[in-house]
Amino acid sequence: MSQTRTGHCMCGRVRFVARNVPQVFGACHCDMCKRWSGNMFNGVSVVSGDLDLTGQDHIRRVQTSEWAERANCESCGSPLWYRVTEPEFEPKTHNMALGLFDDTSGMTLGHEFFVDRKTSANDLPKDRKQFTEAETLALFAPEDASHDQGDKQ
Ligand SMILES: [Zn+2]
Ligand SMILES: [Zn+2]
Repeated sequence: MSQTRTGHCMCGRVRFVARNVPQVFGACHCDMCKRWSGNMFNGVSVVSGDLDLTGQDHIRRVQTSEWAERANCESCGSPLWYRVTEPEFEPKTHNMALGLFDDTSGMTLGHEFFVDRKTSANDLPKDRKQFTEAETLALFAPEDASHDQGDKQ
């Protein structure tokens, strides 16, 4: 099952509508993904022709290897996608960062790359403290501040 989903970067200058989005996404634990995204990169493989992007002027593409590029929002820094640029590579897809999607309900992790590079820090401790949104805001946000969910311009 696949469907149309929307998403945007942290500042909202780059937005997208993706059609035929698969329910499964992948994680990559390679060193480049870790340093680029801050941890493992969770990517949703969208056929490039099924992707409508707005805010093109704010997208910074970097050719990070001979065969692939990574794109970020140049205003807020959000990682946007990983894409194989090798001309012969099929299918043509954009691996969109999972965190950009407005709604990920029903989506599940389907595969992992570079598992031998996975950091043990991703094994979540069983006795960890867990804070809800309200509990976290109570700890860090000024009382009268409105919560920034990333939906503001
Ligand atoms: Zn942005
Ligand atoms: Zn990677």
